[in-house]
Amino acid sequence: MTNSKVKIISVEKRLLLNKFNIYTKSHIEIDFSKCEKCELKPCILICPAGLYELVNGKLTHNYEGCLECGACRIVCPYNAIKWDYPPGGYGVCYQFG
Ligand code: SF4
Repeated sequence: MTNSKVKIISVEKRLLLNKFNIYTKSHIEIDFSKCEKCELKPCILICPAGLYELVNGKLTHNYEGCLECGACRIVCPYNAIKWDYPPGGYGVCYQFG
């Protein structure tokens, strides 16, 4: 039995409801001497916000839309991603917890 009052919206639409208070400095740093040893670049696949990409064979990232899940740091097989939360009051503000 379904509750007809429950409004179902897609994950993408929910993510659009998040707000970001962007800090002036990135909370993500990449050690390229380690990163260049990695062929798979799992950070590109794991990031739910799609913030990593290869540009001319070099990993680039945007930190502004970071959802602060920490997955990129965890999946990096070379510990090339130094990641920490943005300073208090900055970063993502979830509308649904
Ligand atoms: Fe993407 Fe999560 Fe890493 Fe932020 S912490 S860059 S959302 S994988």
